[in-house]
Amino acid sequence: MTRPLRVAVIGAGPSGMYAAGHLLEGPGGTYLDGRLVQLVNRRIEVDVIDRLATQWGLVRNGVAPDHPDKKLAHTVFEHIAARDGFRFFGNIEIGTHVTVAELAQWYDAVIYAYGADRDAALRIPGESTPGSVAAREFIAWFNGHPGYAHLEPDLSHERAVIIGNGNVALDVARILTAPTDVLARTDIADHALQTLRHSRIREVVLLGRRGYEQAAFNNPELEELGHLRGVDIVVQGAEFQATHQPDPTTRRKVKTLRTYAQTRVNGHDKRIILRFLTSPVNVLGTDRATGLTVEHNEIVEGSVNPTGTYSVIETGLIVRAVGYFGSPIEGLPFDERRGVIANTHGRVEHLRGAYVTGWMKRGPRGIIGTNKKCARDTVRALLADADLNLLPTEGTLARETVEQELRHRQPNLVDQPGWRRIDAVERIAGWSTGRPRVKLTNLDRLLTAAAPVAEHASPVNRPATL
Ligand SMILES: Cc1cc2nc3c(=O)[nH]c(=O)nc-3n(C[C@H](O)[C@H](O)[C@H](O)COP(=O)(O)OP(=O)(O)OC[C@H]3O[C@@H](n4cnc5c(N)ncnc54)[C@H](O)[C@@H]3O)c2cc1C
Repeated sequence: MTRPLRVAVIGAGPSGMYAAGHLLEGPGGTYLDGRLVQLVNRRIEVDVIDRLATQWGLVRNGVAPDHPDKKLAHTVFEHIAARDGFRFFGNIEIGTHVTVAELAQWYDAVIYAYGADRDAALRIPGESTPGSVAAREFIAWFNGHPGYAHLEPDLSHERAVIIGNGNVALDVARILTAPTDVLARTDIADHALQTLRHSRIREVVLLGRRGYEQAAFNNPELEELGHLRGVDIVVQGAEFQATHQPDPTTRRKVKTLRTYAQTRVNGHDKRIILRFLTSPVNVLGTDRATGLTVEHNEIVEGSVNPTGTYSVIETGLIVRAVGYFGSPIEGLPFDERRGVIANTHGRVEHLRGAYVTGWMKRGPRGIIGTNKKCARDTVRALLADADLNLLPTEGTLARETVEQELRHRQPNLVDQPGWRRIDAVERIAGWSTGRPRVKLTNLDRLLTAAAPVAEHASPVNRPATL
């Protein structure tokens, strides 16, 4: 084949951007088994397609605003997007504007990297009562995802309950208790900052079904709690044993929790309670959540058993942080149990030329960097198939034809220059207020910012029409 290999990547989150980076390999090559190697032996063109007008997936819409260092991965993605052969088509949803069958026809190969956009179900009565929200929605709200700007969580009660014992639960707890002057220096959405300024929440209770040794928090995030300004950390439901814990990571976690448990509360205005061995049973309230019934558990010979003892925690806000779950797209085989695209080492089952990476390949686990290796392995599978002429390359459309077709289906398509303009508008707005950026949180404003300057110039500056 003399023409370049033409690949679509669906999703501009970390896994999609890393996949594009491996396909458009930089001059240094790619790390494999500790060595730099050249994976790519041919010219490749990559179109990254996302349903949002923006790039970077959960790096923009998931990672907590008070963790700007974690968001720095975007600088790598910017370098990738600047390489020859890269195009971006935002505001295009696969399954709505374009089908899986069409993508298979238009490109030599397609990599699905569209992340997990549903919540793992808690399966308790009252779960969907207003006032009970998924952490995914709450986080998308404070991060300015245009689909969740309307959320308006009720922060008028003094107590919030977060169900879950992982880093996402900690992210929510920090944002609910952080001083708003600290948040005002981040890229948190303006609407969230406004709401948090009027928040009456003073106590955030994190519920873990299991014991303190099994908590899924990472050590740095757990230790960070101890440095929060104006927040006491309280541990409940943990009877610390003197047993030696062989695993160093668990040992460090237990040490931190023990320190929190032994530290006298300082009488700060706010507190976070880490409460273990407690399961949610049902959400109370009809029109709005008013509380949560919980059952107390105990550990018997290493397993967690319910005790049949119940109590009620009064609260007006319940945040369910029990995990993410992937969605199917018509035309792709879906593993209902794991919530991923059915695949073997990144090759989509029974669909020649289709590949998957990221959370839709492995399930919703792993940090940003995990997706780099995951994407590399998928790209290696694709390139191996290309070498064996296993890709369905007949009938692949010309680059220009694909773009015309996409623009025809979505006149408000946001391309790479359009996304750069959005990025610049947000950053410039941030400079004047000492923030990394001020996010645009509604689609109309994003589209206005994406338009070439002449199109969104003020009427005064706009050239008169003839
Ligand atoms: C709340 C939260 C906080 C996190 N914090 C950290 C952290 O601090 N540090 C860290 O290292 N990791 C963190 N992670 C993990 C990290 O964000 C993930 O590992 C990573 O984002 C997964 O990448 P992905 O590309 O698979 O999915 P995503 O990041 O979800 O990207 C998927 C992209 O696909 C697009 N898409 C979805 N459906 C379609 C469709 N039908 N058509 C077109 N496009 C579509 C989406 O708009 C999105 O841009 C966090 C995760 C969460 C949930």
